[in-house]
Amino acid sequence: TREIHLASRPQGVPTPDNFRMVEAPLPAELGEGEVLVRNVVMSVDPYMRGRMNDARSYVEPYALDAPLEGGAVGEVLASADPRVSPGDHVVHGLGWREHAVLAPRSFRPVGTERAPASAYLGVLGMPGLTAYVGLTRIARLQEGERVYVSGAAGAVGSLVGQIARNLGAAQVVGSAGSEEKVALLTDQLGFDHGFNYKDGSLSHQLRDAFGDGIDVYFDNVGGSHLEAALTHMRDFGRLALCGAISQYDLTSPEPGPRNLFLAVQRRLELRGFIVTDHPDANKEYLERATAWLAEGRLHTPETFVDGLDNAIDAFLGLGRGDNIGKMLVRLG
Ligand code: NDP
Repeated sequence: TREIHLASRPQGVPTPDNFRMVEAPLPAELGEGEVLVRNVVMSVDPYMRGRMNDARSYVEPYALDAPLEGGAVGEVLASADPRVSPGDHVVHGLGWREHAVLAPRSFRPVGTERAPASAYLGVLGMPGLTAYVGLTRIARLQEGERVYVSGAAGAVGSLVGQIARNLGAAQVVGSAGSEEKVALLTDQLGFDHGFNYKDGSLSHQLRDAFGDGIDVYFDNVGGSHLEAALTHMRDFGRLALCGAISQYDLTSPEPGPRNLFLAVQRRLELRGFIVTDHPDANKEYLERATAWLAEGRLHTPETFVDGLDNAIDAFLGLGRGDNIGKMLVRLG
């Protein structure tokens, strides 16, 4: 079987040389509780860039000369766990390889008759819960409020806008990096307004979109987006700091928002969060998401790349904005 290793730690924007495809043997037999899977779909995510650095963070850095890790759904080929049998599907954390031996209890069975395997890496997985936790637990969105989300056509952002609408937001605005993405927001995902952040002053585009200011900003991008959002926040607004993808490849830090004093003047709340701290919200979210999906009130755009050979390019594509909705790699 084959797996992708981290060959060297990227400086700035990663390049294909930072990675290596490696042939690896399959085990002859399974230990107690272990499960052998063939991965059918794997996720590439922006957070993986941070794990490529050797730096203290909320998750361990990837080791050099070892396989990368990440969310994946695999079909069980052999099982030493009575809960699952060959043919079942499980979601787990050993992506970036064609086959994986899963440690006991390190996976969760998923029903691919209820939803396609990819959904467990998107709307019914980590990105979905991130959108929900950010809106409900971190920003404490109330009905009738005005919401701005950056990175709005991506995995998390596309769900943020739709969930905000489903929770009763009065106005939902998103920004993204192409005309095609902006059209998706308003034509298919029910956003009130979208704009292309490459089209000119972010602050002017936000002023035009929000006559009455922003109550909740869901920040996926950081940097200039955060600064522009601060300018247009209403008093007592909340900013859920989810990510800062504009900064992940920087080799030296960028100056912070120059207008941070607005947080004092307007009594704003800026709060960062990591989805894995909120497993308690998962059941509630899945119940609501399942209902919204059945009612046609949650659309889940996905971009598929085929084959492990193209997984690195899929990951690098996140930084280029290649994806609409969730970026996924189909295997096998
Ligand atoms: P996306 O599906 O949104 O993919 C990344 C997108 O980011 C690209 O498609 C691109 O879209 C945009 N982008 C890339 N570079 C830039 C840039 N310099 N400026 C503005 N936009 C850029 O990824 P996810 O939905 O998986 O993640 C979104 C954010 O949420 C990330 O910051 C991620 O780290 C964070 N996150 C945080 C979690 C948490 O627990 N806190 C959990 C999961 C994700 P475009 O064409 O619009 O530029």
